[in-house]
Amino acid sequence: MGGLYDYGARWYMADLGRWGAVDPLAEVYHSTSAYIYGGSNPILMVDPNGMSFFSSTFLNAIGGYWTDNFSQQEGSGNNPPENENNDPVKIATDAGHGEKIKGSCCVDPGAVSGDSYEKDFALLIEEQVAKFLSRFGNSVTRTRTEDVIYPGDRLTWRLKKAAGSDILISIHLDAGEKAGMFVMYDGNNPNSRDLAIAIAQNQTILPLEGQGYFTPGEKGRGNLRLLSGFKGEASVIIELGGIGNVQTKKAIIGDAGLIGLQIAVGVTNYLQNE
Ligand SMILES: [Zn+2]
Repeated sequence: MGGLYDYGARWYMADLGRWGAVDPLAEVYHSTSAYIYGGSNPILMVDPNGMSFFSSTFLNAIGGYWTDNFSQQEGSGNNPPENENNDPVKIATDAGHGEKIKGSCCVDPGAVSGDSYEKDFALLIEEQVAKFLSRFGNSVTRTRTEDVIYPGDRLTWRLKKAAGSDILISIHLDAGEKAGMFVMYDGNNPNSRDLAIAIAQNQTILPLEGQGYFTPGEKGRGNLRLLSGFKGEASVIIELGGIGNVQTKKAIIGDAGLIGLQIAVGVTNYLQNE
């Protein structure tokens, strides 16, 4: 966190702007809602350089990224992460469900709680993840940006969309009242595990379930087919918690930008530690 205190938020924001966005974090400030500042789980405000606008949650969210990219090379900006061919890393982001298979009656809503559908909440967060990952210089493919009609198997079309990417991040939620987030990885792929850990460790908005990451075999859940069917270097499935949980729902609606930013920074930390 040293770099942040040294340079201050304005400099950080100015530098982040070099990636092409006019005011890249504006919507994050906007979404830093009452959920963070008040309610049953207040987090102390910090005020370095008079940045009383920022919560400690937000500073934690950007702190790791700041330290890695800027603290040693003042003003040098960011070199986008590259894959082994020296191309920008290709990342596929996938909002779970939301597809209508040709010939079937309905769109798959995923988990349902009242009039809330998993497919919509997943899309809300996935959009933010995709946005920040592309601002960080990666090449991003979104498997869907709305409800879609795809022929054939509901996992196969996702894998087809993600084909050629280095990383696949699929976002899901549960029904019910489970509050915790966790990241599932492919137990046969150490990269997948490292990616899951990096994402879980950079997450502070939603409570983590257990250590925040596991291979589906350990708990007998998740979709191994999506994880193991992906041919890139690493895939993970992020479960954000239950849409039957009031706090989870509130956080996802109010803090989608911050949750998405934290996931994107987690992915970036993984890429830089490789
Ligand atoms: Zn799902």
